[in-house]
Amino acid sequence: PLTTEDLIEDHRICVCVRTRPLNKKELTMKDLDVITIPSKDVVMVHEPKQKVDLTRYLENQTFRFDYAFDDTSTNEMVYRFTARPLVETIFERGMATCFAYGQTGSGKTHTMGGDFSGKNQDCSKGIYALAARDVFLMLKKPNYKKLDLQVFATFFEIYSGKVFDLLNRKAKLRVLEDGKQQVQVVGLQERDVKCTEDVLKLIEMGNSCRTSGQTSANAHSSRSHAVFQIILRRRGKMHGKFSLIDLAGNERGADTSSADRQTRLEGAEINKSLLALKECIRALGRNKPHTPFRASKLTQVLRDSFIGENSRTCMIATISPGMASCENTLNTLRYANRVK
Ligand code: ADP
Ligand code: MG
Repeated sequence: PLTTEDLIEDHRICVCVRTRPLNKKELTMKDLDVITIPSKDVVMVHEPKQKVDLTRYLENQTFRFDYAFDDTSTNEMVYRFTARPLVETIFERGMATCFAYGQTGSGKTHTMGGDFSGKNQDCSKGIYALAARDVFLMLKKPNYKKLDLQVFATFFEIYSGKVFDLLNRKAKLRVLEDGKQQVQVVGLQERDVKCTEDVLKLIEMGNSCRTSGQTSANAHSSRSHAVFQIILRRRGKMHGKFSLIDLAGNERGADTSSADRQTRLEGAEINKSLLALKECIRALGRNKPHTPFRASKLTQVLRDSFIGENSRTCMIATISPGMASCENTLNTLRYANRVK
């Protein structure tokens, strides 16, 4: 298992993979686990029940990342290696982003938002909340205490290329780019937060707003990107910003041949934004002068996080372990592999 000694210090882009246990539905369908994490940074996709020969790394089905988290990993563990280092970044006047990328049902919301299985509605164990907790802990450190920083939070979603404020009854918001290439989401509610509890309330509020009026919570959330931000301000001026994003299900990007026009359009939009995201992260990693952020609404609203000296990104690729998901899993792993 990973220990703190495995923590890679100071890298601009971190890409990791997380698998989960087979769930009830998969077990009922007698689906079989095809994922093995043989070491702390490798994931293998293989035939079920096959006695995995770990020395034979079939090229296409073995992927190496910064970290690989197996199905016994906890959110706290995943957090420690992914978003935790980025909390420091925003205190050092930087911009940080953390994405959960993967197929619907693979564990994106579980990782970012918390545990919403069955009767549990516990957002205190998700990366949103864990990051907020550590922001308030860091504020107490003498170095930062003297800066007199204020903490704010925003929560919005991007659905079919449109922005909706989850802290303001899903108000539809406009995105404007001024002459200095600054991107602004006009009217986005930025809530003053004083403690972790305040943040948990906002997450709950945003979550219920996100799914209200929808026949199925997952059907909607699989087609939209949710963006939760923690903003540090000093005398009103932005000091640092952490954007945590629960992306739309990547399999939706393949909906482009659906019989339903709306579904097709949404699929095309998702596909576009996920491709743009990959390119923006790659540009950040390569210190390229031009970031193609205008290619989608998602990358446009995150523009200031993809540029600048002190920007860092982390991507958590979540995968479903079942054989039935194999094709989507390979797509997810290939995408994640190309991000860096
Ligand atoms: P997504 O947001 O990617 O569509 P969810 O986070 O909603 O997927 O996860 C789908 C289901 O699997 C949920 O019931 C969730 O509680 C469960 N789940 C996801 N990841 C894990 C995990 N690491 N351990 C246990 N259950 C998980
Ligand atoms: Mg989800």
